[in-house]
Amino acid sequence: MMNTQLTLASMIEHTERYLPKKEVVSRTLAGTRTFTYQEIVRRTRALASALENLGVEKGDRIGTFAWNHHRHLEAYFAVPSMGAVLHTINIRLSEEHIAYIINHAEDKVLLIDEDLLPLIEKVKDQLKTVEAFVVMTDEDRLPESTLEPLYSYETLLEKADETYQFASDIDENDPAGICYTSGTTGKPKGVVYSHRGIYLHSMAMGLADAGGLSESDVVMSVVPMFHANAWGLPFAATWFGSTQVLPGPNMTPKILAEMIEEQKVTMTAGVPTIWLGLLKELEQGRYNTSSLRRVLCGGAAAPKGMIKTFETKYGIPFIHAYGMTETTPLVTLSRLKSYQSDLSEEDRLELRSKQGMVVPGLEVKVVNENGEAKADGDDMGELLIRGPWIADSYYNDDRSDEAFRDGWLHTGDVVTMDEEGTIKIVDRTKDLIKSGGEWISSVDLENALMAHESVFEAAVVAIPHPKWQERPIACIVRKEGEEHNVSKQDIMDFLTPQFAKWWLPDEVVFIAEIPKTSVGKFLKTALRDQVKSQVMQE
Ligand code: AMP
Repeated sequence: MMNTQLTLASMIEHTERYLPKKEVVSRTLAGTRTFTYQEIVRRTRALASALENLGVEKGDRIGTFAWNHHRHLEAYFAVPSMGAVLHTINIRLSEEHIAYIINHAEDKVLLIDEDLLPLIEKVKDQLKTVEAFVVMTDEDRLPESTLEPLYSYETLLEKADETYQFASDIDENDPAGICYTSGTTGKPKGVVYSHRGIYLHSMAMGLADAGGLSESDVVMSVVPMFHANAWGLPFAATWFGSTQVLPGPNMTPKILAEMIEEQKVTMTAGVPTIWLGLLKELEQGRYNTSSLRRVLCGGAAAPKGMIKTFETKYGIPFIHAYGMTETTPLVTLSRLKSYQSDLSEEDRLELRSKQGMVVPGLEVKVVNENGEAKADGDDMGELLIRGPWIADSYYNDDRSDEAFRDGWLHTGDVVTMDEEGTIKIVDRTKDLIKSGGEWISSVDLENALMAHESVFEAAVVAIPHPKWQERPIACIVRKEGEEHNVSKQDIMDFLTPQFAKWWLPDEVVFIAEIPKTSVGKFLKTALRDQVKSQVMQE
């Protein structure tokens, strides 16, 4: 068979030729506007040309620091299709980590949203490789900024060539994108996506029994374009010509509910926190959500009660999915097999609240100290994954060997698998807290706490939270004699300058001792149970 190259340029050229009339609805600071794909592709070509005019060459990394909107979508295709590499920077990382990843990826140009400029201004003196900043503003004038040299996105596009021809020498294994995972302790790790990986992942997004995305869908990616490429939806939706709704900056549940109604959204995707917020909004307001054919939920475990409410109260089919930054990210989806529809309602719900079965194209196995775990729904082990859209290393990082061994990605997620191949995540080996879909490292917080002069020992655990899924609680053993010298407020004042606000513990509890395992590690499960009851009582 022919060995044609699976590239992003071929995807968007398909859209340009066959689906130019379909639309992208984009919300920015200036309001909501609609573009045809013909306009989007023209602007994408112009962006590639503009970047070339700025001196961008094949292999250069271009960072984006932006919400979900049409300009970000244009960068998604323009950068890889000129042979450069799209680095989607997570705007919620700490200043230290933002500077670290921009330097580590060696970004040459940064494309930044106007309202996010202050965050980059704060770290600008630490940036070693950035040669140009481009502000994605709706205004004609350039905003006041300390960044230099600063260009306006629209002005660059006006002067550029909208007939620019995408690079024809791209190999499908060339890098198309890079995204750093913060699902780790220490510095973030870079995951490089190849054209081929994104192309095949997009196909999986379109499989009826996987993502099921099609031309007739109106898809709204709530999951940020700076987190695992918005689960690859912008790539797949553009290729298939699905109508895309990009909800822009600072979206609230109200804005989401309104956009679902106004744009007749058929599919949307995001983390459980978003859907908990939307449910609350649906309870209060009167919205017509009858267009929704499915809600895709992943990034953290979807509570059973939430799935039930979406499906029974609002008649919105709910699909629980699992993946990681390292996996582009789709790995499993919880869809019932046709013969499972005979199960009782309770059993079906139970099954649907698990993370589901691996999608075609990937392989998984569950491994513990006895070898491969039994597929009985009980035997636990670490989930291992391999396939054409799974990373095989971290970018320039000597921590790669821990996760990538023997041809498999070792996920650090502890799971069970039943005889049907349904996976359930039971725990994480990583000491991390996932709040609103983003990671908080308990280890980083603990290290900071233990640097306090009155603290003897500190452990940070996650407790369930109705909105954010998990929130950190700091458990502190004070040094002898210091019991009256340090208060909760002192601890918070100590932490506040060191971390992003949303990392700060919701509560500080003082305890006599931290329970430990046989090898002297903090026994977080026991500690969690102990503080949970303590915090709940308070
Ligand atoms: P990230 O790379 O930030 O997307 O995080 C990936 C991690 O999020 C996985 O390794 C899991 O620990 C967790 N995760 C993702 N999806 C789910 C899910 N559906 N249920 C439970 N945990 C999940």
